[in-house]
Order: sequence, then structure tokens, then C-alpha cells
Amino acid sequence: MKLRFIIVLALLGLIAVAGGFFLYPRLEEDPPTLNISPTPEIVGKEASFTLLCEDRVAGLREIRAELIQEGGTFTLLAETYPSGTHRVQKTLKVNPRSLGLQEGEVLLRVEARDRSWRRGGNPKMLEARFTIDTRPPSVGVLSRFHYINQGGAGLVVYRASEKLARSGVKVGELLFPGFPVDDRGYVSFFAVPYDASPQTPIGLVAEDKAGNRSHTSFQYRIKPRKFRSDAIRVSGGFLRRVMPYFMERDPGLKGNPLEVFLRVNRELRKANEQKISELSRDTVPKIMWSGPFLRMDNAKPMARFADHRVYFNEGREIDRQVHLGEDLASLAMSVVKAANGGRVVFAGELGIYGNTVMVDHGCGLVSMYSHLSRMDLAPGQEVQKGQPLGLTGATGLAGGDHLHFSILVSGVYVNPVEWWDPHWVKDNVEDKLGLLETGQKSDSAAPVSQ
Ligand SMILES: [Zn+2]
Repeated sequence: MKLRFIIVLALLGLIAVAGGFFLYPRLEEDPPTLNISPTPEIVGKEASFTLLCEDRVAGLREIRAELIQEGGTFTLLAETYPSGTHRVQKTLKVNPRSLGLQEGEVLLRVEARDRSWRRGGNPKMLEARFTIDTRPPSVGVLSRFHYINQGGAGLVVYRASEKLARSGVKVGELLFPGFPVDDRGYVSFFAVPYDASPQTPIGLVAEDKAGNRSHTSFQYRIKPRKFRSDAIRVSGGFLRRVMPYFMERDPGLKGNPLEVFLRVNRELRKANEQKISELSRDTVPKIMWSGPFLRMDNAKPMARFADHRVYFNEGREIDRQVHLGEDLASLAMSVVKAANGGRVVFAGELGIYGNTVMVDHGCGLVSMYSHLSRMDLAPGQEVQKGQPLGLTGATGLAGGDHLHFSILVSGVYVNPVEWWDPHWVKDNVEDKLGLLETGQKSDSAAPVSQ
């Protein structure tokens, strides 16, 4: 009797446990979890996002994803799942054109249910609002004529129909970024490299947040320039005097003085240019300067921008390089002043350029002062036009005391002479910048899709 009672109790217990196992998932109350990533904000031609839905106990029964707009409801996903499905991950593509969606706001609604008997499955809903924008930005160039010297700089001032994610002037394959000056106004300083053909195509490119791109043309002419060639005699005396500077700093530089010179003039120069190009990307999106740039007082020009230098040793040609700045000589250890307002981005040894200070003037415009014997400023410091930065010297690859002065536009060297010239600065920069301040309407150039 006692034994039978125990067996019945055990059986009842088993039934209760089995029933619990059977019923628990069917009576649970936790809804599935729903996640989408990335959360769409603006959708252009196409966007995709990943939907992840999980339900640990009851399992998933169904998921529906819809896009809702005034014009109607568009189903992205409608699926039911067999029992035992606990995790569903789907990549959903939104192609506004093929779905027939309108420009403007759209609501994404995702609903999921599990297999619980409660409420016909515990529901979970997720909603996200985003904008459909498939139109390329319309860009109007405010500045009208752009005469650019080969090796020189230019400025384009423009407005856009919407806030741009990226824009700038393309010169051949080079992109010179545009910088916002107000909500929809932009400036882009650009350069025609000294070695670019006068036929190089130039245009304005813009991309909105949805990734729609436009290409706008503007009037320009590139004036061809002839650059000088210059013979440089590399004497034994020069090598003995200057090469130890480099050998002390790089123990890997071995060989006779001429071999060391060639490695410095080729490899070190190349590495230095790479670094200068990187440093000149450290720029702020505002114009920190005004008026013509200062040229060192009472200085004689020694070498010019884009001089094509041929190097000779004992009457034999040994190398060719292009000089990418203006060399100015005055008394030894003359004061070097900041050519215009800006922010120091570099002050230190820079290979062939010796002690160098680089000043960012904003929007990609940078000036550089090299071969200094003394530097008085540190990176991060703001400078006023005319503020002393240091003293001239002969550090780096220099035969004697002078200042090597360069100007770069978004990492490309340009002719400094233009920036010293008040007429050039007025016609090519100040008058163009003035177009933005007067709030003039754009001359509405039609955008061309790319
Ligand atoms: Zn120089």
C-alpha cells in the first residue's frame, strides 16, 4: 500500500515536471528582443541594415518589417518560423526607387511574435523614422572667373541646396576639400601643381549625407608658366660641411660624402615631403588670416619656386630635383615673422629642411619656414601676422644662412609670390570671400549626376 502510494506520487511528480517543461515555454511572458543596426537616418539610392531577433524560451513565430509612407505600406519582410527557431538575423535592403518610395520621411516598423500561448504570442515592436533622399545636392558657384597660374592657387566659393557631407575642387585626380563657412556656404582653396598640364580638368564635386553626388563646372583658365632651371654645384667643401648634420641624425647613412648626399637629396627629401603633406592636413575649418602674406624684410631672392635644379659634382650631373619654395637671404640670424595669422602645427627638425615651423592658416592653407637657427614657438600656439617665430639659419640641406619659405594648399606646394601680392590676394581671395558675406544668391549651375 505504501509502495503503491509512493509510485503514484512519483508518477504525479513526473507528470507535473513534464507538464511544466511542456507548458513553461507556452506560457512565458517575455517578448522577443529586436535590434536593427545601423539605425538608418538618411537613405539615398540604396541602404541596407541588419535585423536581429531573438527569443530564448518560446522561440520565434513570425517577423514583419514594413515601410510606411503617406502613399502606402511597403513590405520588406514577412516570415513565419517553425518551432525551435530562437534566433533570426536578416539583412534588409531598402532601394527607394524599386520600392516606389517618395522623397521625404518614412517610418520603418518591425513586429515580431514568439510562440507563447499568451496574447497569441508575446509581441515586440520597433519603429525608426528616416528620410529618403535620392536627389543629388544642387550646388551654385558664387565666384565667377578663376584664372589660375600653373603652380598657383585658386579659390571657389559656393552654396549648396542642403548640408554637404563632403565637397571640394577636383584638379585632375587631386581633391582639394571644401570647408563650410556657414550652414550652406563653402570655400575650397585649390592648386594647380607646377607639373600639371594647363589642360588639366577642374570641377566642383559635392556629396550629401545620403551619398548622392553632383558635379558642377565653373569658369576657369590655367595660365601656363615657365619655370627656371638652375645648376647647383655640389662641391667637396659643401659635402664636408653639410653631410655630418645628416650622418649624426641617421647612423644608417653610410658611404662616401657624395653617396650620403644622394641619399639625403632623394630618399630623405621624399620622406620629408610625405611628412609635410600629412602635417598640412592638420587644418581648422576657418580662415585665420587676412590681407597679403608678409615677405621677409630686406631679403634678397636666392632661389625661386619650382626652379628645376640640376646638381653637378666635379662637372658631372649627379641629380635633379625641383625647389618648392622661395629662398630669401638677409643678414645671418635675421628675425623670421609669421607671414599671416594662424596656428603652429609643427616646430622641429624636418630632414633636409632643418629646423622648420609650419603654420596652419585654416581651410588647408599652410606656410612653412625652414633652415632656422632658432625656433621660438611650439605646436598648438596661435600666431598673429608679423609675430616672430625664430631666426634664419643654415640647418638641414643649406649652403648658407637663408630662409626657405613655402606655401601649401591642402598638401600641394604653390607659388608663394602670389600670396605676397596684395592685388592677387584681393582679386583671388578677398573679393571672392566677400560674395559669401553679402549672402548673394547662387548663379544656380545645374548639377550633373556622377
Ligand atoms: Zn630653399
